[in-house]
Amino acid sequence: MARNWVKERHRKMDVADERVRILALAADKAAVAGDIDYADRYLAIARKIALRSSVPLPKQVKMRLCKGCHKYLMPGKTSRVRLNSESHRVETKCLSCGRVQCSPYLREQRVRRKKSG
Ligand SMILES: [Zn+2]
Repeated sequence: MARNWVKERHRKMDVADERVRILALAADKAAVAGDIDYADRYLAIARKIALRSSVPLPKQVKMRLCKGCHKYLMPGKTSRVRLNSESHRVETKCLSCGRVQCSPYLREQRVRRKKSG
């Protein structure tokens, strides 16, 4: 009996993960087309699904989501991206709430080094 419960839970998590990814793709498409409101809504639904089913949000979604106001971050439209060479960080500022999210700058350098050989 317990085994079926575990199977059922994993099946639900798989479905939730798939839905989150589909919604993230839809949000990206809407944002590129200029519908930021739709992108916000798609990400809000994706976040709700992930929280309810305890599925971790994919990394691409986390990077596009403001941690302050949960809105879609699109560089140039709803966010501003700056490189801080003193602290070696990428700083993304949300233009609707003003929260600054930082991610390590060295990761990008490492990826660039790998690509160049
Ligand atoms: Zn924000």
